[in-house]
Amino acid sequence: MAITGECFCGEVKYRIDGKLHDARSCHCSRCRKAFSSQASAYAVVEAKDFHWVSGENLLTSYVGDHGFGLQFCNKCGSTLSGVYKGVVHGITLGCVNGDPDIKLGRHIYVGSKASWEVIAEGVPQYDKAPPEKA
Ligand SMILES: [Zn+2]
Ligand SMILES: [Zn+2]
Repeated sequence: MAITGECFCGEVKYRIDGKLHDARSCHCSRCRKAFSSQASAYAVVEAKDFHWVSGENLLTSYVGDHGFGLQFCNKCGSTLSGVYKGVVHGITLGCVNGDPDIKLGRHIYVGSKASWEVIAEGVPQYDKAPPEKA
C-alpha cells in the first residue's frame, strides 16, 4: 500500500509507491533550525517512487549548502521533503500519515544536540498527556 503524507493545512499532499529507507534523526544545530525542533526526523525515498498529489504550487524550496534543500508549504509552514539538486531525496517523518512501516534507525550528531534536549533513555513516556500532579 502506498505511503501518503500531507502538510499541517492539508493543501500539499504526496504519495510514495515504495518503501522509505534510512530513517534517521539528526540532532545538529542546522537540523534544529530547519525542522524548528530538537532534531530532524527524516527518511530517504527513491525519486521514482515519490509523487505530489496536490498543492505542489504551494511549495517553496530553501536550498542551503551543498545543493541540499527543503521544501515547505508556504501556507502553513510544514516542511515536507528534502531535495538534492532539484530532485526529491526524502521526506520529513512528521508529515507522514499513519504507519510508514519504518522506525528511526539512528540518532546522528548527538554530540551537538541542544543543551535542553533529553533523549528518551530513562525518561518517562506517555501515550497521551501525563497524569495531572495531585
Ligand atoms: Zn500546508
Ligand atoms: Zn543535521
